[in-house]
Amino acid sequence: MVPELPARDRSIKLTNPEQGSLGHWNSRALLDMLGMRGAASPITHLSNNTVPIPMSETSAPKDGPDLSTLLENNRKWAAAEQEKDAGFFSRLANQQKPKYLWIGCSDSRVPANQITGLAPGEVFVHRNVANVVQLNDPNCQSVVQFAIEALEVEHIIVCGHYKCGGVHAAMQGSASGTVAQWISGISSLYADEKEALNQLPEADRFNALCELNVRHQLANLAQSAPIQHAWAAGRDLSLHGWIYSIEDGLLKDLEVSLHRQEDTGQAP
Ligand SMILES: [Zn+2]
Repeated sequence: MVPELPARDRSIKLTNPEQGSLGHWNSRALLDMLGMRGAASPITHLSNNTVPIPMSETSAPKDGPDLSTLLENNRKWAAAEQEKDAGFFSRLANQQKPKYLWIGCSDSRVPANQITGLAPGEVFVHRNVANVVQLNDPNCQSVVQFAIEALEVEHIIVCGHYKCGGVHAAMQGSASGTVAQWISGISSLYADEKEALNQLPEADRFNALCELNVRHQLANLAQSAPIQHAWAAGRDLSLHGWIYSIEDGLLKDLEVSLHRQEDTGQAP
């Protein structure tokens, strides 16, 4: 059972790129807070979406060069880095000391280092389908533990993205097998919030669920044992919820950061 965010954190912040923040809406008072009944969507950059979907386009030609080119690219990259900074690789070889842990989606269009301008050694990364954080997932939890206890990261960013195929599959009930199992928490989240989401214009529901999923996974993360221990010990550790737009390459801070146990609304 996934713990819920406190009431104030269960709201969804919608942003109109031209007008800035539209404030938060709560699933229980959605229409009143948005004043959107019968109105055009305020999320102008999302409202033209004809709901997509990206998870299994197997017949399309693949993007990317031949495999041999990857190795050639690598040699060029390593040489260029060495040229810029002769000590770069030897320093990295001796230690990694990243300030950040990134928990994001496996989606090929959301590469953590590239979109944040971070170099090798500056961000520890965990990615999976739909940036899921589960307390019983040894993969994610061991990454979190290592990042906190060994690397002593100061910030953990849970980053989702709009048009997330995993979130879409949860919404449509279209996944099967292990994927369906993996995203079952998002399916439950959608079931819980469906009534509220249905009050939004249809074109906005998908991306609103992508934002809700970030908040949901952030709440899960806050319950992780390594984080509870770090906060109990007075460690300086902040958790953040961000979302990325594939359409314009921009990250948005959902402003739901948690800096201590009290921020979760639950007693230490
Ligand atoms: Zn995704």
